[in-house]
Amino acid sequence: MSIRSVLPAAGALIALSISALSGADPVPDAAPPAAVIAAITRDIRPEQIEASVRTLVSFGTRHTLSDAKDPKRGVGAARRWIRAEFERCSKAAGGRLVVTDDAFVAEPGPRIAAPTEIVNVVATLPGEQPASRDRLIVVSGHYDSMPSDVMDSKSDAPGADDDASGTAAVLAAACAMAKHHFDATLVFMAVAGEEQGLVGATHWANEARRRNADIAAMLDNDIVGSSHAEDGSVEKGRIRLFAEGVPAHAALTDAERQRIATGGENDSPARELARFVRETAAEHVPGFAVDVVYRRDRYLRGGDHIPFLEAGYPAVRFTEAHEDFHHQHQNVRVENGVQYGDLPTYVDPQYTANVARVNAATLAALALAPAAPRGVVIDTVRLENDTTLRWEPNREPDVAGYRVRYRRTTAPDWEVTRDVGNVTQVTLHGVSKDDFLFGVEAVDRDGNHSPATYPAPYRPAR
Ligand SMILES: [Zn+2]
Repeated sequence: MSIRSVLPAAGALIALSISALSGADPVPDAAPPAAVIAAITRDIRPEQIEASVRTLVSFGTRHTLSDAKDPKRGVGAARRWIRAEFERCSKAAGGRLVVTDDAFVAEPGPRIAAPTEIVNVVATLPGEQPASRDRLIVVSGHYDSMPSDVMDSKSDAPGADDDASGTAAVLAAACAMAKHHFDATLVFMAVAGEEQGLVGATHWANEARRRNADIAAMLDNDIVGSSHAEDGSVEKGRIRLFAEGVPAHAALTDAERQRIATGGENDSPARELARFVRETAAEHVPGFAVDVVYRRDRYLRGGDHIPFLEAGYPAVRFTEAHEDFHHQHQNVRVENGVQYGDLPTYVDPQYTANVARVNAATLAALALAPAAPRGVVIDTVRLENDTTLRWEPNREPDVAGYRVRYRRTTAPDWEVTRDVGNVTQVTLHGVSKDDFLFGVEAVDRDGNHSPATYPAPYRPAR
């Protein structure tokens, strides 16, 4: 299925008037994907981001252990406002977002003093192509905050950058995307309990794994608000994207071991997703670069993408280019002339809006596209200087074909793209499988393409 828009872009309006003249069904459809993504990124406004950040800060603290009943201050007031925001955007788009609370009680632990209700606020935009709607694309920010002491639920903890910025980016993306139509299902999440040990995200990711949910991608936005660093330098045109290669867990799966054994340590699903994000941003958010970092997260820090990685899903983390640690996890105070505290004045709404646009463009590109091909193998039957790749056919009815991408083993990005047609096997003559890294992507009728799948080696049993 291609995309249809409630408010069609200019191209679709022309198509609509032509079809009306010819007596055809006047339902607007098939706005080109680039026009849909342009409309979405245009609808993400810095003023809206700034208003969201300031409202979230106005709750004083959003500490997970703060009073959830207070109507004005604390984590409960914050989540009720987030829920109302998702619902307002849904209403503006004809009620298309399904807004729910994912609530559960966290038992006492190192950072949780007493049994505490944790609530993730989740807005789902259901996919519309039957063969695609079970595929989930997830985006998150965490709305909880903390002051200097992680157990201090009383002091002010404005959490403007960490992570009202990420929450505001998710809200903005949801509002801009709610009126558009996608093949796969989009899940927009504002999660809690991050500072207490990734509690909210872990619950949601584990529940997804338990029901064997098909999560094709997870984007975590945490500390995406500031373009100014501690040393006074400014970086307005770049966001970091942390993407894990070799997983850090002790017991590798057979697939992971095979990937590493064939030189695929940079072709984990998370890194194929990171390549997809970088290419999508370059196309749809010009002047704002995605700087992929080959690392799970920064030193001493870990975010909400980690429980998704540990549940076996491709997950990556956005964080601003330069961090100012005076403004994270600090009581609000002035010391030796230095202002400490995560205050909204240090958030750059233009910068956060660009991060939200990168997210939304990626979410749209993924949800319009087919799934990444499955069962991709590279023949290792004999010694040869060619490359033969095979894969299972995609199930989506709108798949028009496949393309093979490859690069030298030392190159970070794809260097060659070959459209190979609607086939499930191709031999690249004169391209030695020993010298390149390969990926296969599925392409639909509108030109939307999936992220790449790295091939497993195939050798028939004798
Ligand atoms: Zn954070």
